[in-house]
Amino acid sequence: MVFKKVLKKATFLDPLNGFNPGGRECEIRTDPLTGRNTRVLFFPPRILPEPDLDTIKGKDTGFCPFCIENIDKITPKFNPELFTRERYRVGEAVCFPNAFPYDENGAVTVMTEKHMVLIGEFTPDILIDAISCCVEFLIDVKAKQPEAVYQSINWNYLPVAGSSIVHPHLQVTASSVPTNYYSDVLSTMNISGSNVFDDLVALEVSADERFISSGDYFSWLIAFAPEGVFDLMAVSHEYFEPCELKDGRLAELVGGIIKTINFIKKYNIISYNMSLFFLPGNGEFKPHMRLCPRTNVPPLDTSEINYMKMLHNEPMTTMKPELVAEEVKKIWSK
Ligand SMILES: [Zn+2]
Repeated sequence: MVFKKVLKKATFLDPLNGFNPGGRECEIRTDPLTGRNTRVLFFPPRILPEPDLDTIKGKDTGFCPFCIENIDKITPKFNPELFTRERYRVGEAVCFPNAFPYDENGAVTVMTEKHMVLIGEFTPDILIDAISCCVEFLIDVKAKQPEAVYQSINWNYLPVAGSSIVHPHLQVTASSVPTNYYSDVLSTMNISGSNVFDDLVALEVSADERFISSGDYFSWLIAFAPEGVFDLMAVSHEYFEPCELKDGRLAELVGGIIKTINFIKKYNIISYNMSLFFLPGNGEFKPHMRLCPRTNVPPLDTSEINYMKMLHNEPMTTMKPELVAEEVKKIWSK
């Protein structure tokens, strides 16, 4: 495994320099896990204004199906032929079938009774209960649907990241069909003679440019070729199944997620996507998490997703991963 990047230079007569010959450089980097490319642009990153929470709150005046007075009345219950419980509950977290699923097993886990939790307000207990609740669901999937091995716990936080309901919730899926992400990682695994997750961590440790820390259970790093603005990864040292995500392992994962979202908040970004990927039954697939901030670009709230990510499946960022890693390291041990 190698970190592959190609430096590109566009040349033109530069109006900012009296139309003298000039240009701009960018890098095309390949994610060693997926084989997909990402563009790293050498433009100065924009300083974003303070997040406009009032606009979100102002639009969110309607009915919430996830609030405590509605959740039992309006959310679906699991099929008793496939699941041991109608809904799963851990602390305040409640997991139930997604009324608008993408797959044969799509569930929603409402994380807490509180309708709106700001990015800096998530506590370890909220996340531990919510993820544990998702795990309870996945344990029952395995019992009755052993073919549904493509299992992930996902988070769209706030509308910019794709959430249509402000009330914080996770989305859990378990499918017999891989998403494109799984297919890409599996094709890398198939052509590699060694474990690609171990190779990635070893390469990051030796490069010492994006590696954040090695915990008891996970290696933490900033992805070489991010899927978004930046892309923080936690790669498990060991293969494990969802039912083993508990105690110290879960506490470490949750602690890292909270550090990451608090880091994102420093940049006036308040949305993110997170996915935690499992592949039960494949001991070569190390469970791992990717978390990417999401933002629109002022003043027009321009989407960061343009034709490149949408139709070419090629993300772009102006934040150099190595510089992000330097900043993350400063807050990580605190
Ligand atoms: Zn609510």
